[in-house]
Order: sequence, then structure tokens, then C-alpha cells
Amino acid sequence: MTRLAGKRALITGAARGIGRAFAEAYVAEGAQVAIADIDIERARSTAAAIGDAALAVQMDVTQQDSIDAAVANTVQQFGGIDILINNAAIFTAAPIVEIARADFQRTFDINVAGTLFPMQAVARHMIERGQGGKIINMASQAGRRGEPLVAVYCATKAAVISLTQSAGLNLIEHGINVNAIAPGVVDGEHWDGVDAFFAKYEGKAPGQKKREVGAGVPFGRMGTAEDLTGMAIFLATSEADYIVAQTFNVDGGQWMS
Ligand code: NAD
Repeated sequence: MTRLAGKRALITGAARGIGRAFAEAYVAEGAQVAIADIDIERARSTAAAIGDAALAVQMDVTQQDSIDAAVANTVQQFGGIDILINNAAIFTAAPIVEIARADFQRTFDINVAGTLFPMQAVARHMIERGQGGKIINMASQAGRRGEPLVAVYCATKAAVISLTQSAGLNLIEHGINVNAIAPGVVDGEHWDGVDAFFAKYEGKAPGQKKREVGAGVPFGRMGTAEDLTGMAIFLATSEADYIVAQTFNVDGGQWMS
């Protein structure tokens, strides 16, 4: 498995969850991967578990200095960046009448500005190098349609789909493909917070919301991080060179249901 042999990737929020699964899959395909995360301790243990092809990098996607330092560090260690996955994000939820301005701003700062500015920093590097590149943004089914208790998160993911369209059209002249993946519900640690929220607002027992959501997926179960890795690999290969500014559903049929 060498579809990404010789490629250097930076993945934000890769210390755990989907980002970690992407890092593992990329290394298995021959890439070197910078595990960029605000949680540097976890990034270090993830990189150590993956092996020599993984590098832990401190990065807070809301801080420009941190973004610039992480990109410079990765370029110095690997000699360049060919692939960026903007994966870091937080899930927030609240009824409309309870949304706090600070939560709105923080969620947009991490999920939207935290996609745009790493994309900008890595695109500048790719343009300067003149060999193109691949940028993959993590959207969500939540960006395709609103949900009653998840307004802000849904709005951030709609913004990621829109940013992907604009950046994709803007950067393709430099040979940089920008596309996005829109998963449905994906199992993982992330669900601890989701479950706690629905326990509070819908009176669900622990794990109940997760079971209900999984049962509603046409495929018959929730997604796993590994269900997404095939698309993340494909979009990073030259086979995807002619794909520009698209968002792909990888969701077990949820968008159609
Ligand atoms: P997760 O919460 O398990 O992991 C997110 C990672 O981002 C963590 O390692 C965290 O430390 C890091 N992070 C948070 N704030 C950061 C910051 N300011 N700077 C750098 N890193 C930061 O999330 P996940 O479930 O693996 O989701 C990964 C991506 O997939 C996200 O963009 C999410 O919105 C999207 N997504 C997830 C699901 C799902 O059901 N899990 C569904 C659709 C889309």
C-alpha cells in the first residue's frame, strides 16, 4: 500500500478520533504525517504509537502564531507539505434561546477560522514551492441541513462547505485541489459530549441517543473513523487531480434518508 509514498501531510486535530485514523491510514500508505493538535501530550502519544513516520506538532488552529509555527516546523522536519487535512473542530449544541455569544464565537473560531487560516498558511507554502497540493476540509452532514438543537455547529459546517467551494475555485490555478468530506454520525470519544448534551435536553439515558442515531442510518449502523479513510486517501492522490471544490458525503446514506 504505497498510494501516498513520499507525500508529507499535516493533519489538524489528529491526536484522537477521525484525525488519528487519517494519520494511521496515511502512514500505512507510505506518507509522513504531522499530528497537529492543541493537546500536544496526546499528539505525542499518538505519534509514538504510529511510529517514525509520524511527528507531533503543537498547533492551536485559533492562533495565527501557532499555525505559522506548526507549518514552519513541519516544513523544516519533512522538507515540505503536500497534503493538509483541516480536521480540528468542536461540537457545540444548545437550543436557540440559550446560545451564548461566547460559545458561538469560539465554535466559529475553531471550526471556520480554524479551517481558513491553516488552509491559507499551507496554500502559501504550496504556491511558493510551485508543485501544487491537496487540501481536504472536514465538513459534516450537519453542514447540509439545520438541526433543531445544533444551530451553531451546523452553521460552522455549512461555512466549511462554502469555504471549500471558494478556496477550491481560487487555488486550482496553482494546482492545489481543495475538497471536503461530509461524514454523517461517526462513533468515537467525541460522542461522550454529544450524549451528555442529549441526556440534558432530551432526557435520554446514557448511550440512548447514540443507539437511536445508529439505528436510523440506512447502512444499519453509525460510521467509524475507518469508514472515512478511503475517501481521505483518494482525495490526496493524483487520481483526484480533476476534482475541484467538492464536498463528498461519506455517511452510510444519511443524506438521502
Ligand atoms: P474529536 O473531538 O474526537 O477530535 C478533535 C481533535 O481536535 C482533538 O484531538 C482536539 O484536541 C483537537 N482540537 C480541538 N480544538 C483544537 C484547536 N483549537 N486547535 C487544534 N486542535 C484542536 O473529533 P472527531 O469526532 O474525530 O471529528 C473530527 C472532524 O470530523 C471534525 O471536523 C468534526 O466536526 C468532523 N465530523 C465528526 C463527526 C462525528 O460524528 N464524530 C461527524 C461529522 C463530521
